[in-house]
Amino acid sequence: MIERAPKTFYEELEAGRIVGTKCNDCGEYTFPPMTACRHCRSRDLEFTEMSGEGTLHYYSSTMMPSKRFADEDRMAYGMVELAEGPYFFTKIEGVEFASTDQIREGNEELPIDVRGKPEEVAGKTVLVFERA
Ligand SMILES: [Zn+2]
Repeated sequence: MIERAPKTFYEELEAGRIVGTKCNDCGEYTFPPMTACRHCRSRDLEFTEMSGEGTLHYYSSTMMPSKRFADEDRMAYGMVELAEGPYFFTKIEGVEFASTDQIREGNEELPIDVRGKPEEVAGKTVLVFERA
């Protein structure tokens, strides 16, 4: 549990902390942090540092990136189930994605353990996951 109120989610991330919220009514975690619990809508929440550990369930690649990511190198992105329960969709490192065959074969290996880390993507520090 974090005693003080965190700065913004992104400021915490830049400092290396992955912050979510834990519900004092149902005990579930919400990530990224929101003002209400994603399970029971309670607003009795506390900010908490997340483990950064998760499981990758699916990934693909940015073959046709949106305008905002057009200048970025092609990257893999996928769906991570955080150890605390929430699902998060983000950039994935340490997986093969140069061809559709590699992506298909990589997905056949899933689920795999992944670990979160802050990284700058398209000019903003975001949470990405890499093979643990
Ligand atoms: Zn709740």
